[in-house]
Amino acid sequence: MEKIVSLAKRRGFIFPGSEIYGGLANSWDYGPLGAQLKNNIKNLWWKMFVQERDDMVGLDAALIMNPKVWEASGHLKEFSDPLIECKKCHTRFRADQISVDEPCENCGAKDQFTKAQQFNMMLKTFLGPAEEEANIVYLRPETAQAMFVQFKNIRETTRKRLPFGVAQIGKAFRNEITPGNFIFRTREFEQMEIEYFVREGEWQEHFEVWQELMHEWMRAVGIDESKVHDVEIPDGDRAHYSKRTVDFEFDYPFGQKELYGLAYRGDFDLKNHEQASGENLKYRDPETNEEFLPHVIEPTWGVDRTILAVLLSSYIEEGERVFLKLPPRIAPYKAAIFPLLANKPELTEKARAIYDDLRKEFMVAWDDRGNIGKRYYAQDEIGTPFCITVDFDSLEKNDVTVRFRDTGAQERIAMSELKNFLREKIG
Ligand code: ATP
Repeated sequence: MEKIVSLAKRRGFIFPGSEIYGGLANSWDYGPLGAQLKNNIKNLWWKMFVQERDDMVGLDAALIMNPKVWEASGHLKEFSDPLIECKKCHTRFRADQISVDEPCENCGAKDQFTKAQQFNMMLKTFLGPAEEEANIVYLRPETAQAMFVQFKNIRETTRKRLPFGVAQIGKAFRNEITPGNFIFRTREFEQMEIEYFVREGEWQEHFEVWQELMHEWMRAVGIDESKVHDVEIPDGDRAHYSKRTVDFEFDYPFGQKELYGLAYRGDFDLKNHEQASGENLKYRDPETNEEFLPHVIEPTWGVDRTILAVLLSSYIEEGERVFLKLPPRIAPYKAAIFPLLANKPELTEKARAIYDDLRKEFMVAWDDRGNIGKRYYAQDEIGTPFCITVDFDSLEKNDVTVRFRDTGAQERIAMSELKNFLREKIG
């Protein structure tokens, strides 16, 4: 974990937030490479689950919604964790995450925990200049609710028939009691969520399809599946409205913990919003004219936990060499272009022309510092799958050396074929 955190900072993937002001606890900023990686991950998700499917549409809703949404969804009442505090050192813990019979893990005091109090995790703020009760609003704790709240508009504008889904990517906020473990648990994070609407009688088969699709996603994004465990959440531990929930847990260096979730939510959300808003949210079957509330399967992915699991899965040390075995489609740079020697204008000019041309289609890097070995090393560490070198032969033969990140193997490729080569490899 320390190696990942240090590489992430050193190479510009992830920086501590507000660092020049001493930071802000558990806040992280995605640097130039991290922003690129994150965009690639989100774009891949959107392509796989929206663009390539006829039964899915997207949404991009406001972060701040009418507080009635959170009343109807149950978040105002229920979205809380049990908070306890050590009376001696005042460290706070989640009562469901530690054993209260054991000494405080911060100061060692025994039997000093306060009684558990429910602590609501929604972040509050005020809309407008007056900081009064009537102006209280919440930053959304999940992206999901907007997909129910906009169900009617989406239905009417897209005319989608069951089964169909709505997908959304966006920030969510939770006032977590115990944030930590780098980007695993923060108070501001990003989610990719789908509400997939089905007929009640068909929920089980759709649930299983989504379970498999979530694994397909893990393979596409380069998450080591041997570290993923599908955990069936037993009766009693599930939300009361859910007849089935599977958590996908990952073996992080700090333990086996949640990566993604998949839940059958019945018609709980639409029913609540229908009751609270007074709007008819029912689906009318175009063939039978029957009206009913669809049931919903909710697969949910954390973007930041995806990045953490991807980095942990792709980090490889081979002797002196460190490389990130990122799938080319999510690597920040698809290729790096080098002139073999920096002080030969004819090489630089040719390499620069290739760089400028490739840049129109691919994120590519340029490097002409130090020797080739060092440049390879630097690109390996950030997961660039291909390094393209222009040498003296290139000037005569119009070809380049392409060196592969994972094997170190090299191949001569005609300059005119480079784009096709990259298109094919990136997929
Ligand atoms: P946990 O049990 O770890 O608190 P959760 O069950 O509350 O997670 P969900 O409400 O199912 O999480 O949220 C969906 C996804 O959002 C999670 O699977 C996770 O990937 C991500 N997520 C949730 N909370 C956080 C957080 N505080 N920081 C980063 N990602 C988060």
